[in-house]
Amino acid sequence: MDYEKIFLQITDEINTAGNPGQVASYIPELSRVDANRFGIHLTTLKGRSYCYGDANEKFSIQSIAKVLALTLAFNLEDNKLWERVGVEPSGTSFNSLLQLEYEKGIPRNPLINAGALVICDVLVSRLKNPRQELIDFIRDLAGDQSIDYCPRVARSEKITGYKNAALINLIKSYGNIHNDIDTVFNLYCDLCSIEMTCQELSQAFLFLAAGGINPLNNKRVISVSKSKRTNAIMQLCGFYDEAGEFSFEVGLPGKSGVGGGIVALLPGQYSIAVWSPRLNAKGNSYRGMKVLELFTTKTEASIF
Ligand code: GLN
Repeated sequence: MDYEKIFLQITDEINTAGNPGQVASYIPELSRVDANRFGIHLTTLKGRSYCYGDANEKFSIQSIAKVLALTLAFNLEDNKLWERVGVEPSGTSFNSLLQLEYEKGIPRNPLINAGALVICDVLVSRLKNPRQELIDFIRDLAGDQSIDYCPRVARSEKITGYKNAALINLIKSYGNIHNDIDTVFNLYCDLCSIEMTCQELSQAFLFLAAGGINPLNNKRVISVSKSKRTNAIMQLCGFYDEAGEFSFEVGLPGKSGVGGGIVALLPGQYSIAVWSPRLNAKGNSYRGMKVLELFTTKTEASIF
């Protein structure tokens, strides 16, 4: 299929439709991005690449990184992980405190902030040098050693992340954070600050389209079963209180971040990353959602 031709058709359509979203500003450092950046990159399991626009520019991947931290923690803990974090969609915003008290400090899923904080706690407990091992894991997935944390964004989140600080303290009060709060919080802020390009992201997520094997080097990243389950979690929880809308309009497992990135994948076929920093009211990239909706409509392929 000529994906590049489809990208051109899609961008023609969305250019006439406007882009009413707003760049995330609650993390001050994120508001410095050029709001009009726009990139797409698709990588197939056969190793072919298709791109459009700013596909090779680094941006803050934010919550997209939560899937990669989850992968690492799932491998370390196996199904014991699910005693500490659920697999249900939250139906609430990504940093909501609401359910956490009712559910006694067990976050609904690993892709909302509360769940990712518990995942970071697991990594702190299980790894000797979690910060280094996490970035090494992501570099290997993407086949790119230049991928790194952004200290400016991480610092910005540490000093203004009042809600995340509230979340981690509430979880700790229920005994579901085992390590020192500052250590876990720092790892969480570093995780969210990782910068990658659309090209690197689509490459890094390809193992989830390939039954858990990284097609770059044929190394198994996770088991077939864990790969399926991670995709199921993305399908149900990857877009917070807009997960139903994304499933309905796009029909692929995926994950968004407040930096304006979205990654989605079609098992057996491809992984695609889109970046456009203006967000809709639910904190998902306005154009990213539109692009992927048009993409699965035009290619007539989704998991359904
Ligand atoms: N770092 C952001 C936060 O914790 C991540 C949010 C997101 O991308 N949805 O608020």
